[in-house]
Amino acid sequence: MLDRTATDWRKLADQIDIKSRAFINGRFVDALSGATQPTVNPANGEPLAEVALCGPEDADLAVKGARAAFERGTWSNMAPMERKYVLVRWAELIDRHREELALLETLDVGKPISDTLNVDVPSAVRTIRWSGEAIDKVYDEIPPTPHDTLALIQRLPLGVVAAIVPWNFPLSTTAWKLAPSLATGNSVVLKPASNTPLSALFIARLAAEAGLPDGVLQVLPGPGGSLGKHLALHMGIDGLTFTGSTPVGKQLMQYSGQSNLKRTFLELGGKSPNIVFADANLEKAAAMAAVAVFYNGGQTCTAGTRLIVERAIQDEFLQRVKENAQKWLPGDPLDPATPMGPMIDEGQCRTVAEYVDIGRGEGAELICGGEQVLKSSGGYYYQPSIFAGVDNAMRVAREEIFGPVLSVIPFDTVEEAVAIANDSIYGLAGAVWSRNIDTAHKVARAVRVGTMGINNYFGGDITVPFGGFKQSGNGRDKSIHAFRDYTELKTTWIEFEM
Ligand code: NAP
Repeated sequence: MLDRTATDWRKLADQIDIKSRAFINGRFVDALSGATQPTVNPANGEPLAEVALCGPEDADLAVKGARAAFERGTWSNMAPMERKYVLVRWAELIDRHREELALLETLDVGKPISDTLNVDVPSAVRTIRWSGEAIDKVYDEIPPTPHDTLALIQRLPLGVVAAIVPWNFPLSTTAWKLAPSLATGNSVVLKPASNTPLSALFIARLAAEAGLPDGVLQVLPGPGGSLGKHLALHMGIDGLTFTGSTPVGKQLMQYSGQSNLKRTFLELGGKSPNIVFADANLEKAAAMAAVAVFYNGGQTCTAGTRLIVERAIQDEFLQRVKENAQKWLPGDPLDPATPMGPMIDEGQCRTVAEYVDIGRGEGAELICGGEQVLKSSGGYYYQPSIFAGVDNAMRVAREEIFGPVLSVIPFDTVEEAVAIANDSIYGLAGAVWSRNIDTAHKVARAVRVGTMGINNYFGGDITVPFGGFKQSGNGRDKSIHAFRDYTELKTTWIEFEM
């Protein structure tokens, strides 16, 4: 691959072809109302494209098409091995278009081009390829019934699935939803976040090119409060898979109960603990503590926002983390050297600034950052910021800020570290750093989160499930376990005359 410079990427950005219409029944179409809304580049605040603004009537059309495709059976009854070929072809097409797609994601989300190119796009490719390759290796069950009977326990597709995804990892979360739901034979109606619809529309075209039958994948950009709610309440949708905030996740459970009890699986927010013991490799732990909270500008569900440090090394360790924070200065996301881009929009940047004020007001000590920067760019850049002297009862330690703000909390004993880590409504992810394997394992087991790292942060790949405990959700993305969320368990009992 060519090593492109910031100038190269800017030139390519000027020429990029943006798909901005909804994708329904295999074609790009306008919203029935003809309405559009702009999607904005967070790096400079300028509009990128006018995107179809779909509403309930578009949803009804898409659900009808998705249902018809499911009933036709071209996809739902296709042999898993044949589905595999389509999904693997799709992954290859995405890979072939990786530069264009990475650029699109950078322009729409503000993620650094080095991340979209080396993390987001490859992750989507791997997810789709892996799910495709796995689906024809999954066997159903025959239980130990009496000799004159035979029972089959099979996993069958739910039918029509709605997938609603957020703006912080638009392409990766879309792939995490689409790969297992399509692999298991469902038809899917996807609603991307309003401010980041472009990568989903781009890969929908490639899915059609790979041979996914018309109607099996519909992509509808539009607002959560109307379009998303309509999908969640829709009687024609059998399953709902969601990644987003905990308050919206709670609403979706209610919509399911108010409508048809559609199977609802949620991947929600977090306030993840990153626990460092005095005997850890402090150099590595400090570098990763900065990665854990500043990667993607802290707009990461699993961000390690609570750094829980053994008191004996607190000062020394904080100094190291502060030095590492200087490597995360925000800049132009089209520059391959930029580690951190802007916040997604003005509102998110304001929220981060408000939380910094809240932390100061609560008596925490801001030891670096705390300012919006690069304002003349028109973008929404915020400095990497660290609060020392945080008490876990403070709002900056309890609420998801979704920005580059770290709260540092000291502890004295193993039990206290675990208690602080678990004192949260969330349970998404975390990490523990110690050279003592007994301590590390004890803590890793005791912390109530879906994914825990020992001497790493953000560890994991497509082979392991991802999801939350507590109010971080109930579903599991990735790995073979994700197939469960998109299938019903069916028993067939057969009696023989013998
Ligand atoms: P959000 O406000 O909950 O929105 C997520 C999606 O839901 C968007 O597509 C949104 O549409 C839609 N939506 C909003 N209100 C809705 C409603 N009443 N009915 C149906 N859909 C609705 O979350 P966000 O701000 O985009 O994303 C950040 C959140 O996602 C954070 O809490 C983060 O922790 C979480 N997250 C979790 C994971 C995980 O795997 N656990 C991964 C990534 C992010 P609009 O765009 O139109 O508002």
